[in-house]
Amino acid sequence: MSQGEQKNETRAVEGDVQIGEERFDRLFRPERLKDFIGQQRHKENLGVYVKAAKKRKEPLDHILLCGPPGLGKTTLGHILAKEMGVQMHMTSGPAIDHKGALTGLMTRMSRGDVLFIDEIHRLSAPVEEALYPAMEDFRVDVMTGEGAYADSISVDIQPFTLVGATTRAGLLTKPLHERFGATLRLDFYPTDDLAKIVLRSAKLLEVPCDPAGALSLAGRSRGTPRVANRLLRRVRDFADVQGDGTITSEIVQVTCDRLEVDERGLDEMDRRLLKVIIEHYGGGPVGVETLAAALAEPRDTLEDVYEPYLLQQGFIGRTPRGRIANQIAYEHLGMRYEPKHKQPGLF
Ligand code: ADP
Repeated sequence: MSQGEQKNETRAVEGDVQIGEERFDRLFRPERLKDFIGQQRHKENLGVYVKAAKKRKEPLDHILLCGPPGLGKTTLGHILAKEMGVQMHMTSGPAIDHKGALTGLMTRMSRGDVLFIDEIHRLSAPVEEALYPAMEDFRVDVMTGEGAYADSISVDIQPFTLVGATTRAGLLTKPLHERFGATLRLDFYPTDDLAKIVLRSAKLLEVPCDPAGALSLAGRSRGTPRVANRLLRRVRDFADVQGDGTITSEIVQVTCDRLEVDERGLDEMDRRLLKVIIEHYGGGPVGVETLAAALAEPRDTLEDVYEPYLLQQGFIGRTPRGRIANQIAYEHLGMRYEPKHKQPGLF
């Protein structure tokens, strides 16, 4: 989990600890492809790949999953392993800190197993290079001897499936990207799909939830299942204390007001980001480094966690000279639209 993702864990839910988050992630995680909601095209394609691999009695081809945190990359990794009837081994780019660690992992896997590498764009160059022969020929180099007698021998490993996950596909090197048989880019979820996810999760929590409540919660979840599930837990608290335990649109409204999540799903941090661009930099363009410094946030967090949804919803734009705030950002904040920059295409 990247620094950005960790940061994301605490948004809008003060005091939520990571352990709790992981427990709920597991509880809510669908186990089979048929239970994975939305992302229809990807789901159908994955279904075909699984069927074909099983028919040929071969491991699944290596698959790269891209997209912002919380959209279901890890969930899909688990599902693929389950559908193939194999074991899933989980690690992350930064956790494999030297070639030996990779070799250790590889030699422990059984035929067809899934190796899930989160944040795969953060692999070090030597580890990444060691991964190439493993992915292509199912071979790894093992060091023998020490000092002047050090040598390496090539060892066969069991054919396996690498499922790589990344929030930043653009940072992947070309040789690594090319070694994946398929790349799936997960999109933010439409509100209807998120509402289905909310209803499913509410059922798992054994909380009554009316359809209007689910829809209103979904609309404030930034197109992200993890955000929807987290918000659901907070709404459940308010439903228990201030209502009769049922999740309704009124209770969602009360909870979101208290958490300062607005009707577009933006929280205090999102609004601060828009305000900084508008008030301090005349609507932009402002470079991402400058913006990160102004917000006292790491650049990675800004780019991985905050920006994708604001970009996708059109609140901000990316130009060669930096980020700009678009008209809807001004309107959303109730400010007059008079930017320093000219909107592309308007003039
Ligand atoms: P990522 O790895 O992309 O950060 P996860 O796979 O950990 O995201 O998903 C975050 C949470 O959202 C998990 O609890 C998961 O069960 C839930 N989730 C994600 N996608 C879906 C989906 N399509 N249907 C149902 N639940 C989902």
